[in-house]
Amino acid sequence: VFLKSITIQGFKSFADRVKLELGHGLSVVVGPNGSGKSNVADAIRWVLGEQSAKNLRGSKMEDVIFAGSNARRPVGMAEVSLVFDNTTGIFPLDYQEVVITRRVYRDGEGQYFINRSSCRLKDIHELFMDTGAGKEGFSIIGQGRVEELLNQKSEDRRTMLEEASGITKYRMRKREALKRLDETERNLERIRDILVEIE
Ligand code: ATP
Repeated sequence: VFLKSITIQGFKSFADRVKLELGHGLSVVVGPNGSGKSNVADAIRWVLGEQSAKNLRGSKMEDVIFAGSNARRPVGMAEVSLVFDNTTGIFPLDYQEVVITRRVYRDGEGQYFINRSSCRLKDIHELFMDTGAGKEGFSIIGQGRVEELLNQKSEDRRTMLEEASGITKYRMRKREALKRLDETERNLERIRDILVEIE
């Protein structure tokens, strides 16, 4: 998956709209401590559906909205968009580019969009599951996590590799299918009971 650009507005330290264009290959974000490098990684994780404020280094979701500085008043909304290349058709959508957007307001109201159309988070997850860029968000490996990855239990490492190779989707479908099968089985059972009573 090729991430072409990130647009951040009102998210964490980014009060004004900022667009980061990424090239092919490796992109590096440099800057002094506290300048907002990790906030960029947080922004990517956030658009892709991160639900835990703690994983975004805050205590509540509202903490992702720019809280004001000496020079700037706080803003009321955070919005982040990721633009992905789709010339290879990796996403099953008839567009050359796929834009994923997430927005949140101070009252907690939030929205997700695929190519500017409102959607559910589930739609975004499904879109990505096939591509190998799952919920873990592009293998963003934050400070301290490299060691964590190396020390991971083999099952956890397997989960990560499965997500990266796009199997997770089938695993989820299997789980859903088994659940439906179980429900059908129980319905059948009930019908059999009724039949016995009728007879
Ligand atoms: P380091 O190299 O030390 O990890 P960094 O460049 O990764 O630094 P970040 O952690 O991304 O820096 O950015 C931290 C900055 O973001 C802090 O100055 C913090 O005040 C600011 N910040 C975080 N959340 C908000 C918010 N909601 N509103 C305004 N500023 C915020």
